[in-house]
Amino acid sequence: MKKEFAVIGLGRFGGSICKRLAEEGMNVLAIDSDEEKVNEFSNIVTQAVIADSTDEKALRGLGIRNFDHVIVAIGDNILASIMTTQILDELGVKHITVKAQNLHHEKVLNRIGADEVVHPERDIGVRIAHNVVSKNVLDYLELSDEYSIVELMAGQKIAGETIIDLDFREKYGCNILAIKRSDDIKVSPQPNEAIENGDILIVVGADADINRLENHWIDDNEG
Ligand code: ATP
Repeated sequence: MKKEFAVIGLGRFGGSICKRLAEEGMNVLAIDSDEEKVNEFSNIVTQAVIADSTDEKALRGLGIRNFDHVIVAIGDNILASIMTTQILDELGVKHITVKAQNLHHEKVLNRIGADEVVHPERDIGVRIAHNVVSKNVLDYLELSDEYSIVELMAGQKIAGETIIDLDFREKYGCNILAIKRSDDIKVSPQPNEAIENGDILIVVGADADINRLENHWIDDNEG
């Protein structure tokens, strides 16, 4: 059975979620208090309605508790975002994802029943910063305050070495999850797999350990 999603707030963030879910063939109810926004999405999603999500009766009337996942994408109006989240939690919605504007907003949302809080501006900022400070880091995903997954470009220094020779696990406490080579991706590569110059290594580990590993490569590449 198809999952039922509801998206509240049709700004750039909520709107792009609606479009993507619709492209994936999901059932999506789009809600916004602004009629123009609702009209814009009426041909894209399963149903688009004008409603104020801080009005409990309105949300009840839409049968919001029957949706598998509700995404609150109200941007600037932090109070409306908090009230909406609280109502959704009280109505027993199974999974609530909320967009936070800042750290205080995030903390409150976590306390009042949000299952997942996203902070797209901050997250994308951290990713871009990582990409610009290190020429070897191509992409970056924060798993927790301490652990990340990064994409690292393999340089000349380690070309020809096998995973077992490099022994990242022993030396740095990092694991190579996959190797991207041209259009190919090798998930869980074998220990005897030889690295080629230009390979992209997808590595998981503690940030400090990834940094050590990365610095080692940068020094070698520059030398
Ligand atoms: P983004 O960064 O995603 O573009 P934005 O700046 O567009 O965010 P806002 O305009 O603050 O974010 O809010 C997103 C949408 O949420 C708007 O279309 C707004 O009409 C809608 N919205 C705000 N409050 C409510 C509410 N109480 N009920 C329903 N929709 C709401």
